Amino acid sequence: MTLSEAEYERYTPHLLLPQIGVTGQEKLLRSKVLIVGMGGLGSPVSLYLAAAGIGTLGLMDYDTVAVSNLQRQVLYRLSDVGKRKAEVAKEKLAEVNPDIHIHTYCEWLTADNAKDVLSPYDFIVDATDNFNTRYLLNDACLLLNKMMIHGSVFQFEGQVSVFGGRGQPCYRCVYPNSHHPKAIPNCTEGGVLGMLPGIIGMVQAVEVIKLILGLGESLCGRLLLYDGLTAKWQELQVSKNKTCPACRDPLAISLKKEYSALCRTRAEGRGHNSPSCREEVTVHELKQALDNNKESILIIDVREPHEYQLGCMPNAVFIPMSRFPTHLHSIINHSEKQIVVACQFGVRSQKAVQFLCDKGFKNVRSLKGGVHAWFSFK
Ligand SMILES: [Zn+2]
Repeated sequence: MTLSEAEYERYTPHLLLPQIGVTGQEKLLRSKVLIVGMGGLGSPVSLYLAAAGIGTLGLMDYDTVAVSNLQRQVLYRLSDVGKRKAEVAKEKLAEVNPDIHIHTYCEWLTADNAKDVLSPYDFIVDATDNFNTRYLLNDACLLLNKMMIHGSVFQFEGQVSVFGGRGQPCYRCVYPNSHHPKAIPNCTEGGVLGMLPGIIGMVQAVEVIKLILGLGESLCGRLLLYDGLTAKWQELQVSKNKTCPACRDPLAISLKKEYSALCRTRAEGRGHNSPSCREEVTVHELKQALDNNKESILIIDVREPHEYQLGCMPNAVFIPMSRFPTHLHSIINHSEKQIVVACQFGVRSQKAVQFLCDKGFKNVRSLKGGVHAWFSFK
């Protein structure tokens, strides 16, 4: 493989670096990288990897562009709202670099498709925004022996690391529990400063290039934390957990159907799969039920106190998610009522519903779209 004249011109700044040069650039052009999640992190990662001449990029995302994405997902424009993110991204990236191959996967990652989607790629970028997909991606990477370049952001903080590789920890080694009700919500739910995914995504892109070229020291075994408010970076050493079930036997845990089910239910606007607690209630249904018999319904607002300024539903009981497991006693006396759990957008409330169902509460529902939907309802 030799570079064309146009490629020489395009990649000159790389060619001038002795650590990359023509051989390194050719390596980048031969490499294949899959980005799972084309949101806040996927936007900068894909833009820079396309510009750098990664020869084949895979873009995976089921979602369509929403107006609220534009605050941080810099690939998209207002005119893209409603269109598939992966497809829009492909068009935009082709304008940046028309010489690379771009494949799109407009679907959720599931146990059924993970192997087929991941197999052709050398490295996998975790740019997902939820735990279920991330655990599934981690397991699939372990099974297929691929390294996962992980990034995540929340509010003013971000973190980045590289998982997998010989003797190195996986995501589960560092974060063994997946379904705690206090689990951090995603960006839509908990909020995020728009620049945070840009900063973290950029570090992920650098890690990808380093891994392909074998340059420098990768973030394997190191977790890099960034706090935007103090403008400080911290580095934590992370090591393989000897009891990690995924590392011990990837086949036994990998691609568990339960994670696929959770990813799919999220796609359908549900967050859990317990048959007795599966239902959500819409604002319309709740208003009707309150009109019929207000006394028979208990509304629990699981948002944190700083969110109350966004509006509070009438007669709601406030039990913030962070105190939820220890404050259940306050609702025990109401267990005969129909319980409706609300949060800002209806994601955390689903976790709370699952938690209540696991504790034996019956007749518990999550308010679809949350308090936001309550106040938007006309
Ligand atoms: Zn592990």
